[in-house]
Amino acid sequence: MPRRKKLSLDTFMEGLARRNPGETEFHQAVCEVARIIIPYAQDKPHYIDAQILERITEPDRTLSFRVAWQDDGGNIRVNRGFRIQFSNAIGPYKGGLRFHRDLNLSVLKFLGFEQIFKNSLTTLPLGAGKGGADFNPKGKSDGEVMRFCQAFMTELYHHLGPEMDIPAGDIGVGAREISYLFGQYKRLTRQFNGVLTGKSLEFGGSHIRKEATGYGCAYLLKQALNHRHDSLDGKTCLVSGSGNVALYCAQKLTALGARVVTLSDSSGFIHDPEGLNAEKLAFVMDLKFHRRGKLGEYVKKFGGTFHPDQKPWGVPCQLALPCATQNEIDGDDARTLIKNGCIAIAEGANMPVTSKGYDVIKRAKILYLPGKAANAGGVAVSGLEMSQNSTRLYWSAEEMDHRLENIMEKIHLQCLNHGSENGYVDYVRGANIAGFIKVADAMLAYGVL
Ligand code: GLU
Repeated sequence: MPRRKKLSLDTFMEGLARRNPGETEFHQAVCEVARIIIPYAQDKPHYIDAQILERITEPDRTLSFRVAWQDDGGNIRVNRGFRIQFSNAIGPYKGGLRFHRDLNLSVLKFLGFEQIFKNSLTTLPLGAGKGGADFNPKGKSDGEVMRFCQAFMTELYHHLGPEMDIPAGDIGVGAREISYLFGQYKRLTRQFNGVLTGKSLEFGGSHIRKEATGYGCAYLLKQALNHRHDSLDGKTCLVSGSGNVALYCAQKLTALGARVVTLSDSSGFIHDPEGLNAEKLAFVMDLKFHRRGKLGEYVKKFGGTFHPDQKPWGVPCQLALPCATQNEIDGDDARTLIKNGCIAIAEGANMPVTSKGYDVIKRAKILYLPGKAANAGGVAVSGLEMSQNSTRLYWSAEEMDHRLENIMEKIHLQCLNHGSENGYVDYVRGANIAGFIKVADAMLAYGVL
């Protein structure tokens, strides 16, 4: 194999931008990995010569398809469905489906790319994929969501299989959507298997799956604070979002002794200085998961303040847990958080911090747990749901919670192994390098693919 010249970040990123024009989220996600992996790989010519970075940033395949369905008024509606099968180097394609009005290929490619490293960190045999549709579930009836899911699966099922590609949920895809999708898959194929994860308990789902991303994020933050001889006890936390990730993260943080004072949705954020408790969380879970209402209702019942169209990052805190969506903390938000005393950020969402925000955080050297480590608990329990489906044996909630905490410990250890430098732990570096090595070595072993 001919030896390649030294690879520079600028040259690599120029090539990536040329091949993927206008895909800014994808460029951002790749750049955050490449700026760590390129220097790391300089004295490892086997990675550079085999063009591992060029190959790992090119999905195995990208599927895009029409989804036509009928709304309650009898109107024909057309959406675009996607599935990106990014890498099956270390296991079958695995990753969620997102239904969101603004979903596009750039967002899906960033998510699919992140998934490679995240899934590798879980220590389970999981490749990476991501998919979804530019379908806006907000304001749709159950019947409309069902017809959309059935139309979506009617095309997608050709590309799925329990040993090939196993989707799950993500933003806009929860238990209701997974049930409709699984029902349609079962009808089309006449097979009952583990082709989707995040299923309900009655038909092959796993205990703790819906809690896993949020719980895992709280566990990793606890472990990282303990490593610094600190703890969650009594710390004021800002949580953004009010989906599965945010609410179960808030629940676990509260159980572990922290005080969660905010939650947010697309209409704004609530600030409850007294902190959430079990009763308040149960109310928000019912509001969000069953009644699909807005957070403003919380303030009417429990007090506190509602801040329309704002993000929570201006509230003084010690810990910030962005659990809503990508790029929700920019440079100014990061400066405000740090000025107000924030000592740690743990990402329940995927890439919630912009590049400028990340630069501010890096300079301040506060504890920063990137999503590919901090929110890996969700896909990890999906991996365990697959194991349970394959063996037809099911583990208890206690067993699953224990396994999840254990996996988060393994993730923490991998970050320490590859990210410790002069007493400081760079979790971004640790997570990226640890995630990369396993996949890159598998790719080397396969030869030129
Ligand atoms: N969508 C989640 C994630 O971002 C879960 C994926 C899965 O369980 O496959 O990791």
